[in-house]
Amino acid sequence: MAERDYYQVLGVERNASLDDIKKAYRRLVRQYHPDLNKDDPQAAEKFKEATEAYRVLSDPQLRAQYDRFGHEAFTRGTGAGAPGAGSPGGPGWPFGAGGFDINFEDLGLGDLFDLFFGGGRGRPGANEPIPGDDLRYDLTLDLEDAVFGTEVQLEVPRLEICPRCGGRRAEPGSSPETCPACRGRGQIQQERFTPFGRMVVSQTCPRCRGQGRVITSPCRECHGQGVVHRRRQIRVRIPAGVDTGDRVRVAGEGEAGLNGGPPGDLYVYINVRPHSTFRREGDDLRTEIPISFVQAALGAEVQVETLEGKKETVRIPEGTQTGQVFRLRGLGVPRVRGSGRGDLLVQVRVVTPTRLSPRQRELLREFEAEWGKNGRERDEGIFGRIRSHFQPGNASEGAGEAG
Ligand SMILES: [Zn+2]
Ligand SMILES: [Zn+2]
Repeated sequence: MAERDYYQVLGVERNASLDDIKKAYRRLVRQYHPDLNKDDPQAAEKFKEATEAYRVLSDPQLRAQYDRFGHEAFTRGTGAGAPGAGSPGGPGWPFGAGGFDINFEDLGLGDLFDLFFGGGRGRPGANEPIPGDDLRYDLTLDLEDAVFGTEVQLEVPRLEICPRCGGRRAEPGSSPETCPACRGRGQIQQERFTPFGRMVVSQTCPRCRGQGRVITSPCRECHGQGVVHRRRQIRVRIPAGVDTGDRVRVAGEGEAGLNGGPPGDLYVYINVRPHSTFRREGDDLRTEIPISFVQAALGAEVQVETLEGKKETVRIPEGTQTGQVFRLRGLGVPRVRGSGRGDLLVQVRVVTPTRLSPRQRELLREFEAEWGKNGRERDEGIFGRIRSHFQPGNASEGAGEAG
């Protein structure tokens, strides 16, 4: 029968590069792998054929021998009579009859790619504990909650240990079985006879990843992953005094670890909404209160509302100027690190009266006249320019009218 040679099987030229050979094989694996062609018995045959071709042509040494001795020499069980030295199957024959000690049908597609193409994903052994990832949650808070602390309920999508199998990945009631690919040894051996002697190459079994046991009945809930996606409600205490950019760590509430690995942590990143009347300055809070120019001039006691909603009295001394700041100790932000609280800074804004009644105007003119007479020496600095518009005589008359 006219058997196709390995180059024809893979559909590559005789001078094809290793890369071309890999590509060709990869394509054929996709086309013929038994997992993907359960109803086509011919596919399994084609797959085996392609794999055998790839095994030889991807190995520079074997390929050189193949090119030299030809296809006939590689077909097993063809040796007629007692094989002589150096002839197929005989002593010193470089290729042996064993090839891989793997049953290819037992290997999944991914396993096969790992085996032949080195995986490249660097994934650790299946049963090696892998710590869970940390999670980030961005939380926006009102200033009051950031300053005084709060408790929030967060809905966190995350990986959790599968409740059905408890992370063991096997369907409850079943247990892992001896790996058929390596027969429980965890290693597969590639035995090879070369012109330089017999070589045995061992590698970790790709099917069980060295464990020697495989799960034959994967858990129905997690499909053998050991973890499931869940949206979990998590209550988190936000300590008093946090600010934008702070993060609150919730230990162990991140993603579940695999194979008994520890879970990751949940980090809540804080962002504080601007407040309509309070501004934060480190541990201090700043607010502004309007006072009348009479209060500013004569002094007054005014009420200011603190961030927690309490009324506090600020004593405005006589002669207060607009923009002046009064400090209420201990009414600011609790210190996250350390103890005590910052201060509340109350800045006054002197409001100029508008929509005056005739009587009010009269009083102000009277005041101004009086001010012009007696206030000049007392307070040269501030009202100097205004005063210069008035004649002292006129001001005096005005004062008389008002009285
Ligand atoms: Zn499960
Ligand atoms: Zn195995």
